[in-house]
Amino acid sequence: MRLFAPHELKHVNYYWNDATASALDPVERLIYRSNRLGDDQRITNTGGGNTSAKITMPDPLTGEPVEVLWVKGSGGDLRTAKRANFASIYMSKLNALREIYQATPNNGVKTAVEDQMVGMYAHATFNLNATATSIDTPLHGFVPFKHVDHTHPDAVIAVAASARGRELTQEIYGDEVIWVDWQRPGFDLGLKLKAVCEQYPNAKGVILGQHGLINWADDEKECYELSLTLIELAARYIETHDKGEDTFGGQQFAVLPDAEIAALLGDVLPYLRGKMSADHRFIGTVQLGGAVAQFVNSKDVVRLAELGTSCPDHFLRTKIKPLYVAWNPQTDTLDTLKAQLDAGFVAYRADYQAYYDACKRADSPAIRDANPRVILIPGVGLIAWGKNKSESRVTAEFYLNAINVMRGAEAISAYIALPRQETFDIEYWALEEAKLRRMPPEKSLARNVVVVIGAGSGIGRAVAERVAKEGAHVVCADLNLDAAQETADALVKTYGVGIGVAGTGISSCGAAIAAQVNITQRASVRQLLAQVLMAYGGVDNVIVTAGVFVSPDATGHITDDRWQMTFDVNVLGSYIVADETRTVWTAQGLRGTLVITTSVNGVVSKKGSLAYDTSKAAANHLIRELAVELAPLVRVNGVAPATVVDGSSMFPRDRVISSLSKYNISHSEDETTESLRDKLAHFYAGRTLMKLPITPEDQAEACYLLSVDSFAKTTGQVISVDGGLHEAFMR
Ligand SMILES: [Zn+2]
Repeated sequence: MRLFAPHELKHVNYYWNDATASALDPVERLIYRSNRLGDDQRITNTGGGNTSAKITMPDPLTGEPVEVLWVKGSGGDLRTAKRANFASIYMSKLNALREIYQATPNNGVKTAVEDQMVGMYAHATFNLNATATSIDTPLHGFVPFKHVDHTHPDAVIAVAASARGRELTQEIYGDEVIWVDWQRPGFDLGLKLKAVCEQYPNAKGVILGQHGLINWADDEKECYELSLTLIELAARYIETHDKGEDTFGGQQFAVLPDAEIAALLGDVLPYLRGKMSADHRFIGTVQLGGAVAQFVNSKDVVRLAELGTSCPDHFLRTKIKPLYVAWNPQTDTLDTLKAQLDAGFVAYRADYQAYYDACKRADSPAIRDANPRVILIPGVGLIAWGKNKSESRVTAEFYLNAINVMRGAEAISAYIALPRQETFDIEYWALEEAKLRRMPPEKSLARNVVVVIGAGSGIGRAVAERVAKEGAHVVCADLNLDAAQETADALVKTYGVGIGVAGTGISSCGAAIAAQVNITQRASVRQLLAQVLMAYGGVDNVIVTAGVFVSPDATGHITDDRWQMTFDVNVLGSYIVADETRTVWTAQGLRGTLVITTSVNGVVSKKGSLAYDTSKAAANHLIRELAVELAPLVRVNGVAPATVVDGSSMFPRDRVISSLSKYNISHSEDETTESLRDKLAHFYAGRTLMKLPITPEDQAEACYLLSVDSFAKTTGQVISVDGGLHEAFMR
């Protein structure tokens, strides 16, 4: 087989650089090859596929040269893989395992001894490498070539998931690529590949039925180029057979205009999230346009969606099939859509139970959540769900892969899915269950979407940081978009963007986004919530920390318009936020929380802050009124801070200086703002019972606690976080 030159490749990108590669050690070159393969999504899906190299290196005890299999381990991703993502095992010990396996009676695919081998890899570990090996390790170890790439390219899976897969493999690749029928990966499949290499000494790779591609070479660059060539050949073959406008039987419906899709999603997303989240909350990702639009609006979507996805990587995230609703976007109403979704969920869950009952074995784990993970709506697109944003993006990405696979397979033959028993034996595999059980317990705000208003500075920023630490998806909203963006960027930097490449517009986001909002404008709050729904699919907790303090002018007066502004921000704004979010909470039907920041000044009258204090007294009562209005779905509580000077936008330099002067605290105009604030904070601390300065973090802790189940039975209350000011005690 002739390998394509870089300029001949149209369907994959060539990234190999000799100068870069030659400067690396053999393990680094494997990582380099893996990353370059992963860089092109057409080569493999996020988290999918694995690579290996058999490298001779000195044994850490004897110093003798030994052959070590370096192979991408469980978890991780080719695109981002580092040394820590690779397991290393002695080839001699892997071969010893093979002898044990072969000597065991009743060995073979899905036997007990096959699964037991996974636990034995630890005995074969080279140099105490803690990275867990994956179930694909034997696929690499038993192929007698130095370098092996295993990938999940859509173009190759299209061949692998075709009714004529075996014949097409011969037609596209001749005798150098061998077809192997679907088999669950494990020790036995590794031995089948070994047998292929012995039977066909010229073979360069294998099409794994309904799964993917595996190929090999003794030179690593050749292995890389071979991977690209084999994918290019499949993609070219599909391209020449592409059905163009007749793809998926042609289009049945037209895509709705953007504005109609946006309005529909605003209504349907929280409704769907409620349906999804009866047992656990889910986070959504919306995918519109392109291949998704072509698929959901096609004539064949009903037949193909029902068949389900093929590659194991895909259906572990997408579930065996999506929920498709036969809604006519051109003639049916939104109410019809909701009724169809309702009926669709009921049917889907019943179907999943039937699948479980029909396929379960004596020792199968208990049935898992029966809800779909992918929802297809004609005229609109795809909505994917996962336990967090990263996972929901992965789910959307994998269904896009599945659509590409179906498009290719239907162009060159007919798409066929795996038999349901085979998908079940992957989905409910004891090893898969063990992996789920090893997951760390979820954090208190995992699966939650928290909107923090005022997140650009002070208490709001501290709240955003606090809830992010608890696993929340954080919407950092502020009047000042740049400040909000800074907070969101810092959160994404700390917690990472996750994996999965999908999502239209803001729906491709990570676990934090920034948004501009003016809470005194209803339209602005609506706009904010529309963004939040598009990003995550719903809202659970809202924390309002935005507020304004207006100082009297030189004559000691506050003008009427400044009074109005104070009430607009401190009272009306919180009301508008509550009133608008109520629509989302009601549509979801899930319990939520609202925390409003007021002030101890709401109960302590003081000279010079007439408008502010009065507005905060009103805000305290707003909390009680809202608690009544929003019960039983939403708990509403307040946090009343006192004199948080540190980092507060309500204590600009002028106000700090005027307060220092008012209290006769010695200071100089030359001092830094920080030093002036420090003096004032210590003065205020001295007036409290606890004698401690009050920080934004203290307020954030209270806001957080009122948002989680620590206070599940408390609503309509205001908690002072003021270091103990006896004049502010509630009576
Ligand atoms: Zn695979």
